[in-house]
Amino acid sequence: MKIGLIADIHSNLLALEAALERLRNIDEIICIGDIVGYGNYCNECVNLIKQRRIPTVTGNHEWAVVTGDTSWFNPVAAEAIQWTIDHITKENLDYISKLPTFLRRQIDKYSLYVVHGSPRSPIEEYIFPDVLDGLLEEFLKQTQANVLVMGHTHVPFIRKLGRNFVINPGAIGQPRDNDPRASFMILDIENEKIEIEQVRVEYQVAEAARAIERAGLPPLLAQRLYYGW
Ligand code: ZN
Repeated sequence: MKIGLIADIHSNLLALEAALERLRNIDEIICIGDIVGYGNYCNECVNLIKQRRIPTVTGNHEWAVVTGDTSWFNPVAAEAIQWTIDHITKENLDYISKLPTFLRRQIDKYSLYVVHGSPRSPIEEYIFPDVLDGLLEEFLKQTQANVLVMGHTHVPFIRKLGRNFVINPGAIGQPRDNDPRASFMILDIENEKIEIEQVRVEYQVAEAARAIERAGLPPLLAQRLYYGW
């Protein structure tokens, strides 16, 4: 059983399409939140996620678009949330308002737990790669998961703790680890064996950046795509 894990798409349709192309023969895809925000293709990305029936948890950007509360966003991110509120269809707003805060999957002997931020703070907390083992072990215990998947930081990592794993697949639409390519992971569970592959795919960054500028969004959101930060 192979599961594609994608997170933090951020309305970047070209990056999402490139990732889905690479994942076309996969058994299932799960999205770890933040379909929207920052970029201009909010409806196109939500439509694609719906069309492909990709189970998705809610991210902080979905929450901000649904509630209109951007009080803890920086000004550039807040501007993009307002842009999204102004452009998202009623249907898609309704869809993102109903996303669950976490997902569980049982695959063979392994229990998978998926959340955007962290198990104790599903849409707010950032868990970066330098997190101590102790906290991750606590999360694994709390969720009773063998594989805990989180997003939100846009920085990929894989941590093995005994027979369990904690992973962040990185960001599809706005990587922040100095590599502009779309980042995601493939979880391969077979006969009680787990393998996790980190994948990077190139996409038309310049075209995505131009689309953001044309839409009238802050130019910084276009420029950062070139650098991956
Ligand atoms: Zn994000």
